Amino acid sequence: MTNLNSIGEFGLIDRIQQASPAIIHPETVRSIGDDAAVFDWGDDYGLLATDMLVEGVHFDLMYVPLKHLGYKAIAVNVSDIAAMNGLPVQLTVSLALSSRFTVEAVDELYAGIRAACEDYKVDLVGGDTTSSRSGLVISIAVLGKVPKDLITYRNTAQPNDVICVTGDLGAAYLGLQLLEREKQVFLADPNMQPSLTEERSYLMQRQLRPEARTDIVHELRDLGIRPTAMIDVSDGLASELLHICRQSGTGAVIFDENIPIDDQTHLAADEFKISPITAALNGGEDYELLFTVRPQEFDKLSTNARITAIGYLTADPNQLVLATKAGQQTPIRAQGWESFQK
Ligand code: ADP
Ligand code: MG
Repeated sequence: MTNLNSIGEFGLIDRIQQASPAIIHPETVRSIGDDAAVFDWGDDYGLLATDMLVEGVHFDLMYVPLKHLGYKAIAVNVSDIAAMNGLPVQLTVSLALSSRFTVEAVDELYAGIRAACEDYKVDLVGGDTTSSRSGLVISIAVLGKVPKDLITYRNTAQPNDVICVTGDLGAAYLGLQLLEREKQVFLADPNMQPSLTEERSYLMQRQLRPEARTDIVHELRDLGIRPTAMIDVSDGLASELLHICRQSGTGAVIFDENIPIDDQTHLAADEFKISPITAALNGGEDYELLFTVRPQEFDKLSTNARITAIGYLTADPNQLVLATKAGQQTPIRAQGWESFQK
């Protein structure tokens, strides 16, 4: 028997894809392999994405407030719709709950779910509720839509495209390190007060209550820009860039000094003796958008403070490098997040 560790998450998804039944309906435009499946709905493309959060794997209820968890569960799903250049419309929420949950706890979770549905303007239209023997499981499916001429896949980038990323990277990973450290301090001595001060608030917020970048989808539309390819940064910049390159048949050069990193991330990275670049490349859970645009289109974006150009695509699919100020180039590998190696 083959252990799941040996093929990793990507290998497993490739295998599932090969084992999948043939597509029967002509409306199914794209299936496995992008951030969302794509359907022909006439004027628009319909989008369907699903993501699951599992207690003990994706969150620890010792430090994750249920209200934030509810919000995050919606945001991470909406993020996959945004990654197709679409906007969410409807979603379902399925829960597996253990008996240690109280009614009040479920109320808290739904307060967060409701807030996110309001923020992202999406209708909660159903779900499923069942019991669980161990922890809490939240599984969400979200439907979205995008005008046909704006759909953005992972596999349509071209050499010379400018690689852009929204917001900043690595903060959610450092937020997780801080929360984990406080947990250990608390477990060692429950009388200890947490030292999660104001200066750290941004990192906590990025880990506990991330936002999906639907604002960028609106902004790109306003500017009349359609990216050549797009993906959301759930597993770290390295692995997402690798997906775009592998699926588009391109290479990439990115510059370490251009990777947007917040001051708080720099400070916390110093403290944990982690390179902030490594946190950005392999940390994950930032839920920013990574996209490529034709070089002549980039001018329209260059003054936007929420979008940073970090490099460009090349024609050589074997070239995937991080370039330093000093002119050194190191290969980028996706060590990102591999579900079965925790
Ligand atoms: P994301 O990080 O954007 O959520 P994933 O890495 O989870 O994407 O999934 C990549 C692709 O594989 C998606 O198209 C997703 O629908 C598909 N996929 C993942 N798991 C399964 C599965 N168990 N069965 C079928 N398709 C799957
Ligand atoms: Mg995604």
